Amino acid sequence: MAEFASARVAIIGGGAVGVSALYHLAKAGWQDAILLEKNELTAGSTWHAAGNVPTFSASWSIMNMQRYSAQLYRGLGAAVDYPMNYHVTGSLRIGHTADRLLEFKRVVGMGRYQGMDLAIMGPEEMRKVYPFLETHDLTGALYDPYDGDIDPAQLTQALAKGARQMGARIERFCPVTALRWTGSEWILSTPKGEVRAEYVVNASGYYAREVGRMFGRDIPMVSMSHQYMLFDTVPEVAAWSAEVGHKLPLLRDVDSSYYLRQEKGGFNLGPYERHPKAHWITPDDPFPEDFSFQLYPDDLDRLSFEIGEAMGRVPLLEKAALVKTINGPIPYTPDGNPLIGPMPGVPNAFEACVFTFGICQAGGAGKVLAEWVTEGATEWDMWSCDPRRFTGFEDRDYAITKGIEVYAHEYDILYPKRVWPDGRMKKLSPVHDRTAALGAQYGAYNGWERALWYARPGDDTSEKASHTWARQGPWAGAIAEECAAVRDAAGILDLPGFSRYRLAGPGAADWLSRQITGKVPGVGRLGLCYFADDKGRIVTEMSAARLAEDEFWLITAATAQSHDREWLLKHLEPGLTLVDETEGWSTQILTGPKARDVLAGVAEADLSLPWLTWQWASIAGAKVMLMRVSFAGELGWEIHSQVADTATVWDAVMAAGQGLGLKPFGMYALDSLRLEKGYRAWKGDLSTDYTVLTGGLGRFVDWAKPEFRGRAALAAEKQAGSKKQFAVLRIEAGAYDPTYMATVWQGDRIVGELTSAGWGHRVGACIGLGCVATEAAVPGTALEVEIFGERVAAVVTGDGALWDAKNERIRA
Ligand SMILES: Cc1cc2nc3c(=O)[nH]c(=O)nc-3n(C[C@H](O)[C@H](O)[C@H](O)COP(=O)(O)OP(=O)(O)OC[C@H]3O[C@@H](n4cnc5c(N)ncnc54)[C@H](O)[C@@H]3O)c2cc1C
Repeated sequence: MAEFASARVAIIGGGAVGVSALYHLAKAGWQDAILLEKNELTAGSTWHAAGNVPTFSASWSIMNMQRYSAQLYRGLGAAVDYPMNYHVTGSLRIGHTADRLLEFKRVVGMGRYQGMDLAIMGPEEMRKVYPFLETHDLTGALYDPYDGDIDPAQLTQALAKGARQMGARIERFCPVTALRWTGSEWILSTPKGEVRAEYVVNASGYYAREVGRMFGRDIPMVSMSHQYMLFDTVPEVAAWSAEVGHKLPLLRDVDSSYYLRQEKGGFNLGPYERHPKAHWITPDDPFPEDFSFQLYPDDLDRLSFEIGEAMGRVPLLEKAALVKTINGPIPYTPDGNPLIGPMPGVPNAFEACVFTFGICQAGGAGKVLAEWVTEGATEWDMWSCDPRRFTGFEDRDYAITKGIEVYAHEYDILYPKRVWPDGRMKKLSPVHDRTAALGAQYGAYNGWERALWYARPGDDTSEKASHTWARQGPWAGAIAEECAAVRDAAGILDLPGFSRYRLAGPGAADWLSRQITGKVPGVGRLGLCYFADDKGRIVTEMSAARLAEDEFWLITAATAQSHDREWLLKHLEPGLTLVDETEGWSTQILTGPKARDVLAGVAEADLSLPWLTWQWASIAGAKVMLMRVSFAGELGWEIHSQVADTATVWDAVMAAGQGLGLKPFGMYALDSLRLEKGYRAWKGDLSTDYTVLTGGLGRFVDWAKPEFRGRAALAAEKQAGSKKQFAVLRIEAGAYDPTYMATVWQGDRIVGELTSAGWGHRVGACIGLGCVATEAAVPGTALEVEIFGERVAAVVTGDGALWDAKNERIRA
């Protein structure tokens, strides 16, 4: 086939997201970019979207993207000379419960930190901005003055105009039908001829799975049917609007699960119904070759509950005549967040697809995608949208089940300990039956079911009981007992699915040394390794066990499996091998002052070997690796056994612990224990939002090494001094622990944020880990932490442990 075009980057798909990616690439100086659209621009989901542009999100990174979008859209029409219908109407997000109000207060705090002035309103204020609202049963509302609605087609055309003005190219009616990687570039087949490109971006919306297959990817996603209804003019609304000179704010009744927007003089009502419908999942409803500018048939019966609720809330709606229903495809990933970032396992390829809120996120997504392509990294940590958070276990059933679950709960409160019930039991520990019999309540980590806590007789294990912001959920007593056992005797945590790679080959140690900031452990020893990017930012943390001179096990978080493997492979040098051995092994953490006594009764091992060593040993005839470490901060070992031996090992250790107070514990207790040690959690405390030095990991930097990734940037930071510093805070929290990104205040100034927090049962205090301005990070400094809108006293305790600061218990 003849060559039709060539460009540095080719984007597949001309919806709001693909065009925004093109715009941002061009803006970043990569004008040599082409966008290929199978039909007309906007033919996918974009043309029929309602065009709401909220900034609200319970997720920090998503909120950041949406804030950026709203800001971009405000100036876009003028910047590219393409006037658009963009109404910044503000919005009222109304709450029916006290817990909802807490959610709003939390988001007000997040918004303030991002420079946005969101506010809580009571009934009277609500009626002032929305006179037609029934407020008697509401607990409050979140007012977002930046919310509004935009014409999605005009937005797309404006971005397209801007991209073209900068020199980028758009080719319409040009479907990509096949593609191949030559080893140095991509060749895309289209009916117009071949397109050569160094990089490719899949921005094909709900077609992403089909386009993904061309790359050999099976993208976990499902297309849901989503509807909104347009109602004719209501004289009272039109008259009010004419009098005040603007539209009503958009109303989101999140507890009844719909939004209601003024549309000209009438309304637009869009529900997220509790019993939604997925499309294109059965043989009698096959995925269409081309669905451009098409819709599904109306299906209003599904929406009767939400329609009734809306009419009760704004009784004027009852008077309005329904004129039109739009029912279109809206794609969902298993967690509802889009895919933005490197395409796992595929060279020079990226994803920017499966957007559920692609109009309000297009601006931010374009920025993020362009950064991934042009710099290989993003300004904000974007793990929540990173395609590598899915690791391959997410089969079709899982993707469909989870997509439906997320849609049906689109507006639900994301309580910190809420565990979603669908799509479970994907990967089970070899001792799952044992832990279940002991009362384990599970959560999924990269699909692996791990005990969160062990319910005692009478503890409420219902899903509903997890709907609380409070620390004292039904798990509280159990966690306290589990932590006490670890402190006073011994605990055992079954930990299936630790991600594990074997690195080997001549020069492996030297290579590893150039990848991490610190020292490579000696043979027989273990080390905690930090991987930085070129800007010195924290990419990941792994435990390295040096098995031989040039052979290592690199062990990392379950959810990090694809992310860390890709990072290692990307930088791996010829002659070295990296094998993912995650599936073959399982792990238990045995920890507490009696851990040695437990092991002495059952293991053939040298239990006098010091902290941070490993050894091959034998338990009940099974070969195990004992690693002398404890994330819980007590004397302890990780017991690594092959999956076939794990049950034998567990049974033997449990039997040996009889009479010594050995007790199983779960992830919630572990979280409490690690906070007391100041140990960081992956992608909570450890993210690219912080450099290794800002993150307080300076002791893991070996300045004597002439070369390691990030060295120059870290050296410059060291010279100039870090603006912010990791700190551990003791917080006078009441019933609620701070949530992720709770702001830290000094007087009337925000000086930082918490990246994790919780109750420390050994020290009997609420502990927060976070980053604050360097001058505020001095131990003893009195600060305040904002928890659901209330500021409570906190004190900086330093950057280390609140429990066993000298590590005497670990080294015992
Ligand atoms: C009823 C409804 C209301 C909605 N309301 C809102 C809202 O108010 N706010 C909001 O933020 N979001 C809303 N959404 C969601 C929003 O529409 C989508 O998230 C958004 O349009 C996705 O944009 P996109 O660019 O990712 O995908 P799309 O707009 O679907 O674009 C993908 C493009 O890829 C093209 N393509 C596919 N395959 C190929 C190929 N092989 N070669 C070349 N091109 C290809 C398609 O033709 C299509 O144009 C709504 C969705 C629905 C259904």
